[in-house]
Amino acid sequence: MQKFIGIFFLLIQVASVGADEAPDLFSWNLKERDIILDMRYPEGKLKALVLSFDDGMRQDLKLVELLNKYQLRGTFHLNSARLSMPYYLTIEEVKTAFKGHEISAHGVNHQGLTGLSRADMFYEFLEDRRALEAVSGEIIRGMAYPFGRYDINALENLKSMGFEYARTVKGTGRFDIPQNPLLWHPTAHIFANEKKPLNQGRTFQLAKEFLATESVSLLYLWGHSFEYVDKWKPLEALFAQLSDQSQVSYLTHIQLVDYLSAYRQLKISADKMTIHNPSAISVFLAITDMRKAHAHEKSIVEIESGATITLFSAQK
Ligand SMILES: [Zn+2]
Repeated sequence: MQKFIGIFFLLIQVASVGADEAPDLFSWNLKERDIILDMRYPEGKLKALVLSFDDGMRQDLKLVELLNKYQLRGTFHLNSARLSMPYYLTIEEVKTAFKGHEISAHGVNHQGLTGLSRADMFYEFLEDRRALEAVSGEIIRGMAYPFGRYDINALENLKSMGFEYARTVKGTGRFDIPQNPLLWHPTAHIFANEKKPLNQGRTFQLAKEFLATESVSLLYLWGHSFEYVDKWKPLEALFAQLSDQSQVSYLTHIQLVDYLSAYRQLKISADKMTIHNPSAISVFLAITDMRKAHAHEKSIVEIESGATITLFSAQK
């Protein structure tokens, strides 16, 4: 009987559309617009932490030990011509020390990019890629600007050399993702200027704010291992504070770049119900269904590499 009534109503609906009343292409169920899709970081986490260190000096060995102890990941920007020089890591050390971390470019000879001729710029950065690739066996796709000196007119050159991100030293104090990955301003320089009374504890304060926030956030801290010769204890305290957080995804810089790229490649249907992930890695979204009474509750979905999912398919 119920089935019969269902068919009866369906017939009435079809009839009411009528032959002269063409269905409006834009009259999809407006309620479907009440579905909000938000990015989540890998494993569905709300936040991400990236730690990046420059210059490849010997203290990197102790630094990487501390990162490993707290299961954190680091990105290490190296100058290939300085490897095996006094005070710097040796080539052999670079080959073994950074397992699970990222090796990235910082110029062959640590030359500031501004003022370099085009030929010298290509030598400094493309040759650094090539040399570091020979040492690490990895494809090097990122860099940090030596002395933080960047030139927006040079970004196309860096792109043509195969760089996908380039980090500056311009601290923003914020937790957002930069618009241009080749002008990647970090959140802050670890313990920078903290001898000035106003800045004391600023790095810890930023870490605390990051851990407390309830919105999608990236904490990007950078520094040099030689800056910690008298600060290993506070550095360890900082790492302990940031480690083992259920809301935080721990990424190298290039892992973050790859994840953001996969997120941006998602194909989403007009009604937001069907999502396809053409990339090689899983992407995570938080879904808010405003049609529900508990609209503040978000559900996390994983869209695996190559998969297509349909939201709320059970209700259709
Ligand atoms: Zn440097």
